[in-house]
Amino acid sequence: MNARLKPSRLRSPASVAPKSSRSVSTPTVTRVMRTLARAIDQHQLPAVEKIAEECQEDPFEVLISTLLSAQTRDPVTAAASARLFKVARRPATMAKLTARRIERLIYPVSFYRHKARHVRETCRMLVTKYGGRVPATMEELLTLPGVGRKTANLVLILAFKSRQNICVDTHVHRISNRLGWVETNTPAETEQALYAATEPRWWPYINLYLVTWGQNVCKPVYPRCPVCVIRPDCPQIGVTRISTR
Ligand code: SF4
Repeated sequence: MNARLKPSRLRSPASVAPKSSRSVSTPTVTRVMRTLARAIDQHQLPAVEKIAEECQEDPFEVLISTLLSAQTRDPVTAAASARLFKVARRPATMAKLTARRIERLIYPVSFYRHKARHVRETCRMLVTKYGGRVPATMEELLTLPGVGRKTANLVLILAFKSRQNICVDTHVHRISNRLGWVETNTPAETEQALYAATEPRWWPYINLYLVTWGQNVCKPVYPRCPVCVIRPDCPQIGVTRISTR
């Protein structure tokens, strides 16, 4: 796994992060997170984390690969990002590509036509508004075409080493609810609920740990509960059918 994301490699963020109230017991969250920190070592890093590691957390490559990754399988994201970065690695160069060329390079990521336009418009805005650099605040990141809170949070965590953000995708949303850490209907609600339910020291790791677990064990349908190492701390809320393997 990405050694830079090991808790032991970071100083505690508690002094800089806002205080939160908690709806689940702190020892339970701590036990789950420590167990997952060890368990995910045997699994592949999620695609964007892998790309971030390979590009030394370059904010531009993290941003573009995160944009491509939405609702797309990891191998497809990795291959599409590699093809695109082979042709253009900086905002100014990528902004000069036509949308059609970007489409061809990133196909078959889902919504590749929309994403190609967003990538191109984002690159243009980075050049014209932000001096060719990826901005480092949530407020500014949200001005970029196609960038929502999930993308902005991941860029802040991976590229700018923020310890004050939680990135919530469908895996984080689903598993947080199954664990009973939150009781929410949307990823946006889950993000806010997790700030209140978990200690700030875990915020930068929640995405990496739960996404890895969601891709390999706590799958959307037929989660692999019989082999899940955090089962003793999981009430399996909403789970009706489990994998027997
Ligand atoms: S016990 Fe089952 S529902 Fe709970 S985290 Fe593990 S796989 Fe998911």
